[in-house]
Formats: sequence, C-alpha cells, structure tokens
Amino acid sequence: MKIVMLGAPGAGKGTQAKQIAAKYGVPHISTGDIFRANLKEGTELGLKAKVYMDQGQLVPDSLTLELIMDRFSKDDCRNGYVLDGFPRTIPQAEALTKALKDNNDRLDYAIDVDVPDENIINRMSGRRACAKCGGTFHIKYNPTKVEGICDLCGGELYIRNDDKPEIVQKRLVAYHEQTQPLIDYYRNEGILKTVDGTQDVDKVFEDIVAILEA
Ligand code: ADP
Ligand code: ADP
Ligand code: ZN
Repeated sequence: MKIVMLGAPGAGKGTQAKQIAAKYGVPHISTGDIFRANLKEGTELGLKAKVYMDQGQLVPDSLTLELIMDRFSKDDCRNGYVLDGFPRTIPQAEALTKALKDNNDRLDYAIDVDVPDENIINRMSGRRACAKCGGTFHIKYNPTKVEGICDLCGGELYIRNDDKPEIVQKRLVAYHEQTQPLIDYYRNEGILKTVDGTQDVDKVFEDIVAILEA
C-alpha cells in the first residue's frame, strides 16, 4: 500500500496518516517530522531546513528529495508507506512518480483531506506536539488526558515554532501556490480521493478506510 496524504497545513494529514499506518502496518513517513528530528539532533540538514521552516516556506526540492529517497531505501518501506507532507511541489511529485516507475511501481491513492482556510488557524493555534514520540494533539478537538503530557508516551508537549498565526498565514500561501496544484496532478493520474476533513477525527478515518477497502 502506497498512499500520499494531501491537504493544507493543519488539515489533519498527520493525525490520519498515523492511524492508517497503525491499521495497515506500513510506516508513516512525514518529511516535516524528519526535518524536525534532524533539527533536534543539530545535523547540517536540520540547520539548513530550519531557515525555511521558521519562515513558513518550503524547504528546497533538492534537499527534500535527497532526504526522502534515502528514507525510501530503508527496509520497512518494502510493503509500502503513508506519505505525509511529501510531495509538496509538482517537481517533488514528478520525482516520486519517476522513482516508482523505475521500479515498475506506482502509488495506490492520493487522499486529499479537505479543510477550508477559515478552519486552519484554529486548528494550528491549538495544536500540541510531543517532543518525544511525535504524537499530535489539540487542546480542544483532541485533548490529552493530562494537560501538557503526551497520552502515548508521557512525553512533554510543545507548541511548534511555525504554528504561530503569522507563520501559519505564510504556510497557507505556500500551500495554495505550490502544493494545491498536486490535487490536479493526482486527479490526472486517476488516483485522487477527497475526504471532508472538517468532520471529527474518527469520521474522517472511517471515510478513508472506506476508500482503501473499496
Ligand atoms: P504541516 O503538516 O503542519 O504542514 P509539516 O510538519 O508537514 O507541517 O511541515 C513543516 C515544514 O517543513 C513545512 O512548512 C516546510 O517548511 C517543511 N517541509 C515539510 N515537508 C516538506 C516538503 N515535502 N517540501 C518542502 N518543505 C517541506
Ligand atoms: P497536518 O499533519 O495536516 O498538519 P495534524 O494532523 O497535525 O495536521 O492536525 C492539526 C491539528 O488539528 C492538530 O492539533 C490535530 O489534533 C487537530 N485535528 C486533526 N484532525 C482534526 C479533526 N478532524 N477535527 C478537529 N481537529 C483535528
Ligand atoms: Zn509522545
């Protein structure tokens, strides 16, 4: 199973991708998570990516592609993956299509988690992430049992640097300019599926499972 999650920042791609990965036993691959992990470890890649991330801009394709191709070469990708936050530009999507084609392979679905911009700022301002396991919560829509503490691992929750409203605005601009065109790209490839991402988390997941098991 090879799936791409599409959708604006904060649409719920990560939340859904984690559940898909758990249900179908494929890895959840988030380029954002990999960049943040690199940043935490202070690697050169992390430091390079930070400059863009903090501005709400996309990291250059060359850097992103290098990172993801390396990730695809790992053993756990043999049975597929759920991609969350990659591809984010047409050149990235074309590089992915080509890399798969070279192995006589292709994606199964691109799932667009559709959420209008009006809802996004709300989602982002309440997002809390776990520094230890990458778990994602929301103070109102998906609260943890104990405030500030991850339900999954007991780690401490933090607010992402780029979830400030003014940076979220910039990320939305980048999304509309550079990432939204992927919806048509995958529609043309015949693998686009759209789910209504304004529904609650469980209902969105139900709709995705229905698509995957159709
Ligand atoms: P969200 O899911 O909230 O949009 P991510 O964690 O996916 O956030 O991404 C955070 C930031 O990491 C992006 O704003 C961008 O700077 C960078 N990033 C992640 N994935 C990519 C990608 N495929 N191409 C370019 N930049 C990326
Ligand atoms: P993305 O990976 O697309 O940036 P996330 O999965 O991190 O998005 O979700 C963004 C925020 O919105 C998180 O705080 C998450 O808990 C919350 N969220 C995710 N899905 C929903 C939903 N269906 N309804 C309400 N809030 C949601
Ligand atoms: Zn955790």
